[in-house]
Amino acid sequence: MQIVVTGGAGFLGSHLCDRLLSDGHSVVAVDNYITGRRSNIEHLFEHERFVFLKHDVSSHIHVDGDVNFVMHLASPASPIDFERFPIQILKVGALGTHNALGLAKAKNAGFFLASTSEVYGDPLVNPQPESYWGNVNPVGIRGVYDEAKRFAEAMTMAYYRIHQVDTRIVRIFNTYGPRMRANDGRSMPSFIAQAIQGKPLTVFGEGQQTRSFCYYEDLIDGLVKLVHSGEHYPVNIGNSNEITILELAETIIRVCNSSSSIVYEPLPQDDPRLRRPDTSRANRILQWEAKIPLEEGLKKTIEYFKTHEKVV
Ligand code: NAD
Ligand code: UDP
Repeated sequence: MQIVVTGGAGFLGSHLCDRLLSDGHSVVAVDNYITGRRSNIEHLFEHERFVFLKHDVSSHIHVDGDVNFVMHLASPASPIDFERFPIQILKVGALGTHNALGLAKAKNAGFFLASTSEVYGDPLVNPQPESYWGNVNPVGIRGVYDEAKRFAEAMTMAYYRIHQVDTRIVRIFNTYGPRMRANDGRSMPSFIAQAIQGKPLTVFGEGQQTRSFCYYEDLIDGLVKLVHSGEHYPVNIGNSNEITILELAETIIRVCNSSSSIVYEPLPQDDPRLRRPDTSRANRILQWEAKIPLEEGLKKTIEYFKTHEKVV
């Protein structure tokens, strides 16, 4: 297939480009580098089946030739970006999704939306099944991201129902691995960089909030399986091993063999207290489940931060 990947220079987008190329597809990656990096994809610049377009997908997207699938991953995704780039996030979730759907419709292509567990907001049920409608504060600082993705899902379903575009929606839960930026602000890269440098790990609140961390290889495998399924309704993809953020910090200190201590800082507004995917739909529809244990993924990610992010 000829596949367009928006957000192709980001953490997940660049790994997806690698996987699609190794599966024999041709890839057009589109990215404006707002939170992505050339270094994530420059190893692909000489690849004969890879094309890169530097472009903001919140403006009309033009791609030459045939397209079989549009995979829309473009969006800043770290909570610190929710305060830095609120309008860009709303635009890429709304206008960017509309443009990417329009491209899919014009090319008679399939469409894939990277949505998020944030559509569940600060959830009142745990684990979260796809049938849960969520608990989102639309005017809080996280609302720009949550509402943009909720709008994007609604727009995707409208293109499926009205224009018969062959759509997919994945709700991605916390995913980590190589190519996250050390200064990205999310817990995983922040804690790893702090532990390697022997600095205190900054745990927000009392660290009793939970998350469930999925290694990127498992996640990408789930995305590819979803592309090849005929499923139009949202599917959760994530690891169901739920841990507290304090446990994550302690585990990273141990796996890094670090002398770092832990400091407690204020909990950000609307920070979800619990998060764990109910992956029974992914198990049933895609025969997918996360396989890589936290410590194994952590070791690979720590190694990457030491060798590539120059964190010492
Ligand atoms: P990332 O910030 O590394 O990647 C996002 C990419 O999109 C970046 O390369 C950025 O430059 C690009 N981008 C943003 N706005 C753009 C625009 N207007 N035009 C063109 N390119 C634009 O983040 P990520 O973790 O790789 O996330 C990728 C996708 O997965 C996002 O849609 C995110 O919402 C979703 N997601 C990620 C996670 C996770 O844990 N990593 C969880 C849930 C959802
Ligand atoms: N967090 C933390 N210290 C940090 C960064 C994040 O304690 O330096 C917390 C954050 O408040 C949240 C959890 O870790 O409760 C996961 O945050 P992350 O940014 O990884 O993603 P989120 O799931 O909130 O989108």
